[in-house]
Amino acid sequence: MTDAFSLPPEAAEPHLHVAARTLELLRTVPAFADRYAGHPGPVRGLDELAALPPLLKDDLNTALAHLEPRSETAATWLFQSGGSTGAPKVGYAPTGFYMDGVHAHWRALDRDDVFANAWGAGRMWGAHFLAAALADRAGCRVIALGSITREEYPDWLAFLADRGVTAIGGTPSVLRLWFAHARAAGLKLPALRKVLWLGEAWQPQLEEDLAAVAPQARRWGMFGSTETWVVGTNTPDCPADTFHPLPEQLVHAGPDGLLDFTTLNPEMLNPVLRYRTGDAGELADCPCGRPGRSFRVLGRRDNVVQVRGLGLHVDELVARAEREPGVSRAQVVVTEDGGRATGVEVLLLAGPGAAVDAAALRAELLSGTFTLSTAFQHDPEHVTVRVTDALVSNDRTGKTASLVVREAAADAPAPGAAS
Ligand SMILES: [Zn+2]
Repeated sequence: MTDAFSLPPEAAEPHLHVAARTLELLRTVPAFADRYAGHPGPVRGLDELAALPPLLKDDLNTALAHLEPRSETAATWLFQSGGSTGAPKVGYAPTGFYMDGVHAHWRALDRDDVFANAWGAGRMWGAHFLAAALADRAGCRVIALGSITREEYPDWLAFLADRGVTAIGGTPSVLRLWFAHARAAGLKLPALRKVLWLGEAWQPQLEEDLAAVAPQARRWGMFGSTETWVVGTNTPDCPADTFHPLPEQLVHAGPDGLLDFTTLNPEMLNPVLRYRTGDAGELADCPCGRPGRSFRVLGRRDNVVQVRGLGLHVDELVARAEREPGVSRAQVVVTEDGGRATGVEVLLLAGPGAAVDAAALRAELLSGTFTLSTAFQHDPEHVTVRVTDALVSNDRTGKTASLVVREAAADAPAPGAAS
């Protein structure tokens, strides 16, 4: 069982006192009175750790509401940790956001860089501040860009080119907007060498735009969540879905194919003990040759949505739509009425100036997707494919999920699984 962890027992066990302390904290949460009853602790070995029940996002928020952790040495920041309805769920971090550990193992930025931080700032989003803390360690120049509107791209792109920007960072959906606009306008960022990303899976279509706009640029990825903070990183030599965990992060691949994370960092404020982000994955050897075990992220398990009793694989549908010439991004919107799917719509964002044959794509998706052709056998008109100006975004988290589920009666769509 211990080979399902990213660290061997001899490397992990000297730090398991942190997990034991987290367990003691979780035990004080009244709602968890029964949860850990059969686990007297302390956690001395990886087998004991693997026997603990995993924590989900709601569990962690229940714990945080009771524990209300505060940093001993710095301000305590509250950030959004997702959740699709109601008030934002909250994760905590001290100033610095644990980026010392990231900088020690991942030199994506150095002193000579001019770094454009294009993660949105405000609304309790963490990534902008986390990237700023990394830039602070690197001692580079920083342009705190944040999010901009569609009309502003040409002017800002020209500014970034003038400033000789060497690095940019954002979620892949935001980066795609930047590079698609630059490509459409014939603008280049000749000094750009590094594209930092975090928050969503890398989008292979970015490579095409990068080749035209910034041919020297390479991707540098971080993987994590507002609960775990940065768990792992990769470099241009690694596959985009493979990450090297930081030594203070213990990654476990469960028998059900889901990853969970346990912090070994005594400064961590969130009680991260076998915390599941919802990402499926496995431990792997990275072809870059860096020693130690890495992990491969295989997408979100919750991206299978039930449609009339059949599982619809959202990622597969989106990937097929995005292979269509002219399509820059796709999104699946499932409309439900009282829990039953009344329709499935595939929204397409076309590349600048591209013409997309939505009718032909619809015919292909309908005939080629078992769940759609079977579930909508008698009312295929409720499967639609449409080109749109904007996909449905979650205003609170700033992310554009590949799946949106909405109630037929509701005016506003509720963000779906990957919010
Ligand atoms: Zn690697």
